[in-house]
Amino acid sequence: MRTSRPECAIVVHGGAGAGSGLNDGCIVAADAARCDLNEGGAALSAAVAAVVSMENDGRFNAGTGAALGLDGKTIEMDACVMDTQGRLGAVTLLRGVKNPVLVARQIADTPHCLIGGEGAVRFARAMGHAPYDKVSEHARQQYREMMAKLESDDAAMPGVANGDFLKFWNYADAPRFRIPSATDTVGAVVRDHDGGFAVAGSTGGSAPSLLGRVGDTPLVGCGFYAGTFGAVAATGVGEYMIRTLLAVRVYHWISEGVSVAEALARGIALFPADVPVGLIAVSATEAGACANADMPHAIVRGTAG
Ligand code: ASP
Repeated sequence: MRTSRPECAIVVHGGAGAGSGLNDGCIVAADAARCDLNEGGAALSAAVAAVVSMENDGRFNAGTGAALGLDGKTIEMDACVMDTQGRLGAVTLLRGVKNPVLVARQIADTPHCLIGGEGAVRFARAMGHAPYDKVSEHARQQYREMMAKLESDDAAMPGVANGDFLKFWNYADAPRFRIPSATDTVGAVVRDHDGGFAVAGSTGGSAPSLLGRVGDTPLVGCGFYAGTFGAVAATGVGEYMIRTLLAVRVYHWISEGVSVAEALARGIALFPADVPVGLIAVSATEAGACANADMPHAIVRGTAG
């Protein structure tokens, strides 16, 4: 007799404020996760497959599309994975790698949870990740367009004076008097047909940022969390989400029986309207996405069995 299995669910986002024009990339990514599940993959490999798809797209702030630093050339990337089995891997300040999420996945198999900087690059090379320095035209265009923000009165980062990035400048090259802005990180949460949960994420970091800045994406409980009750991924200006431990806070609400829709809405309500924030989550029975800015996303349910 065939026993009924939990319905699968996949939710993918392309960053708070990135615009619904990127929904097609999220649909392709969700389909990559669906294919992985159909081929017998579990939640973790499916979430990673979705994020790899978006890292390779070039239009998202991750992988090939990762945002340029304020010097117009440095790219520092963060990524994360976590699942119900307690597998946890994150990488920060990674340079010169095509798919940071695959490095995060490999870190989950080491004795550590988070590796950063030079050690992360050396680890990636040891794991066979070839040097990669492609910058997408989308990333270059975003850099050019957003450079004008410093010359306007608009804060390039909510709540922060544009001049602070010049005051604390720590790049090797002399500063330019223009500041870019970007928050189109990618993330995926998956419930597989064994009822397991996983989350994966990847980012070039929010822009503008100083050299060596670490956001919420590689910090467990801030940008991501997964456990026996579900999985959560967050996007937006990391400095705000770190202070609220956003992902684990939303996870706890879900674990207490709050619906996914309500838990996501509560999470978004923690922030001022001018701070772009987005959340996606899956629980045992639900899947959802919520943001206070236009966030490309895709939700797929019941796709494998
Ligand atoms: N949360 C990311 C960061 O602060 C940016 C994003 O979500 O787009 O690095």
